[in-house]
Amino acid sequence: EAYIPKIINVNYIEGSGDERWRSRNFPWTKKSEANNKKVFGNHSFRPNQREVINATMSGYDVFVLMPTGGGKSLTYQLPALICPGITLVISPLVSLIQDQIMHLLQANIPAAYLSANMEWTEQQEILRELSSDYCKYKLLYVTPEKVAKSEALLRQLEGLYVRELLARIVIDEAHCVSQWGHDFRPDYQSLGILKQKFPNTPVLALTATATTSVKEDVVQALGLVNCIIFRQSFNRPNLWYSVIPKTKKCLEDIDKFIRENHFDECGIIYCLSRKDCEKVAEKLQECGHKVAFYHGSMDPAQRAFVQKQWSKDEINIICATVAFGMGINKPDVRFVIHHSLPKSIEGYHQECGRAGRDGQRSSCVLYYSYSDYIRVKHMISQGAIEQSPFTGYGRANMINSGRILETNTENLLRMVSYCENDVDCRRLLQLAHFGEKFDSATCKKTCDNCLKIKSFIEKDVTETAKQLVELVKLTGQQFSSSHILEVYRGSLNQFVKKHRHETVRLHGAGKHLTKGEASRVLHHLVVEDFLVEDVKKSDIYGSVSSILKVNEAKVRNLFGGQRIILRFPSALKVSKQGNLEVTPAKGSLTSGKLNLPKIDTPAQPQNEKDLDLS
Ligand code: ADP
Ligand code: MG
Ligand code: ZN
Repeated sequence: EAYIPKIINVNYIEGSGDERWRSRNFPWTKKSEANNKKVFGNHSFRPNQREVINATMSGYDVFVLMPTGGGKSLTYQLPALICPGITLVISPLVSLIQDQIMHLLQANIPAAYLSANMEWTEQQEILRELSSDYCKYKLLYVTPEKVAKSEALLRQLEGLYVRELLARIVIDEAHCVSQWGHDFRPDYQSLGILKQKFPNTPVLALTATATTSVKEDVVQALGLVNCIIFRQSFNRPNLWYSVIPKTKKCLEDIDKFIRENHFDECGIIYCLSRKDCEKVAEKLQECGHKVAFYHGSMDPAQRAFVQKQWSKDEINIICATVAFGMGINKPDVRFVIHHSLPKSIEGYHQECGRAGRDGQRSSCVLYYSYSDYIRVKHMISQGAIEQSPFTGYGRANMINSGRILETNTENLLRMVSYCENDVDCRRLLQLAHFGEKFDSATCKKTCDNCLKIKSFIEKDVTETAKQLVELVKLTGQQFSSSHILEVYRGSLNQFVKKHRHETVRLHGAGKHLTKGEASRVLHHLVVEDFLVEDVKKSDIYGSVSSILKVNEAKVRNLFGGQRIILRFPSALKVSKQGNLEVTPAKGSLTSGKLNLPKIDTPAQPQNEKDLDLS
C-alpha cells in the first residue's frame, strides 16, 4: 500500500524552554542524578537531557531534535535503567546496535538485540526470556524490519504490554520514517503499528536531522499523541564553514590547507566515489600526511582496522565515502573536508557535525564545482552513489521510486544553491533549512561569507536571465551550461566555431559580465527550475555530460514579467571625490584563493559544566 505523507496540523506541544521540565522535584530526580553519575559516569546533564527524561518519565510521547553527539542515548537509557519493565529500542543499523549494547553491558546494564541475521536458536532464547516473569533485560534493541516482519516478536511485546512491563518505545534516527528526509527507510513506515497496539506505552522519537516537514511527517506516521517536542539550536559555534571553488589543483589546495591550518591534526575528507577516496588518499600520502581510505567495498576487517588506527591516532586523515561516520565518536576531529558536493544540506550538516565534538575550533571546508553537481546527479539517477550506512534499502528501490529520485534531486539542488551563494551567512543558510532562525551577526565572521563580505548589492538580473534562456533555445537545447556561458560571453574557441555559434544572435551579449557573474545567473536558473540539466552519457566510453533544456512552463513567468534579483558581494571603494561607493567585487566565485584567518584562538571552552542548564 502506497504511503502518502500528509502534512496536516499535527498536535504537538513545544517543550523546550518550558520551566516545568527543568524541575528537580520529580519523584525520580534523585535516582536519575545518582545513576547518571554512578552508572554512566557523567558529571551533569547536557542541554535538554534532564528535560527529555522528565517528560518521557511523566508518560508523554516525546520528540527530540538534538544535534549529533548531543547525547540522545542517555535520554532513554537512563529511564530504562530506573523504570520497571523493558524498553524497546528501534535502531536502523545492526553495527550501531552492537556498539550500544557493548557500552551498556560494560556499564552492567542488561541489554540484548534481535536481528534477522542472528541464529534462530539465539533469537528463540531472547524471545523466551521476554516471556519470563523476571525478564532480566532492561533494553531490547531491534531493527525496523523485525517489527514489520516478526510475528513472534509482536506476540512477546503484547505479552509484556498486558503485564505492564513494556516501559517505553524508542525510535532512534526517527527521520528515517519520512520520505522528505535524506535517509528514508521504508521499514520505518510500519512503526505506526506500535502506537496502535500499545497506546499506553510512551514513545520517544529521536533524531539529529529534521526539517519542519520531516518532523510533522514523523509525528504523523508514528501516530504520536499530544507529543512534546524538545529542540535546541543546531548551530555549532566552534565549526568554521567555507566553500572554495574546486579547481584542477584541488588536491594541492587540500594539502596546503591541512599543512597551514591543521598539520598533524585529525580530520575526515569526504569523497564521492570509492575511487576518489583511494586517489585522494594516495596523493596526500605522497605529500607526507598519515592517511588511509575507507569505503563500502572494503571488507569489514579492513574497515575495522582503519577505524582503529584512526581512533588510536596512528593515522590522522581518513578519506571516506559517507559510509564512514555513523557512531564515530572521536572528539578531536579538527577538520572535515568535502572533496565533492554533498547530497543534501542535512547530510552536509551531519557530516560536518563530526568535527569539533570537544568544543574546540574546527574547520569545515567544501570544495565546490558545478560539474560535480552533474556528476552527483548522474550517480543518484543510476543508484550508484554510496549511502550512509543505515540507508540500506538498496539500489532497485531507489531507481524505481520516482518520488525518492525527485526528493534526492531537490535536496541536491538546495546544496548547489548553498554553494553558489557567496553572500549570506553559511550558518543562516544551514539553519534556515532546519526551520531555525539565525541572526547572522552571531556568526562573528566564522564563515567565509561573513568574513569576506563587507556589503552586498542587489542586482536585477532579469534581462541576463532572459537572454540566457533564449540562447539555450537558439542553440537547440543540446549544449552544456559551460558552453552556453562561453557563447554568451563571446568566446571564439574551436567548439563555438565548429557549431557556428559565433553567428547566433546573443553571441557575446554577456561580454560585460565576469564569468562568475554570468554563471551565477545561469546556475540560479537551474536551481529555480527555469532550466533543467539533462544528464546523459555522451559517448561510447560512457563519460557523463549534461545538456541544458528549457522548462517552458516556468519560463513563461519569466517572460511574463517575473523579476529575478540576486545579491552580489561588493567592496567599498573611496571615490575620487572622497565619497564611499559600492562596487561589485569582480568574479567573486572564480577567485580560488583560500581566505581563512590563521587559527590561534581556541573557541569558547565548553566543558560539561558550562553546558548544563540546570
Ligand atoms: P547522539 O546519539 O545524540 O549522537 P550519544 O548519545 O551517542 O549522542 O552521545 C555522544 C557522546 O556524549 C557519548 O560518548 C556519551 O557518552 C556522551 N555523553 C552523553 N551525555 C553526556 C553527559 N551528560 N555528560 C558527558 N558526556 C555525555
Ligand atoms: Mg545516537
Ligand atoms: Zn556567517
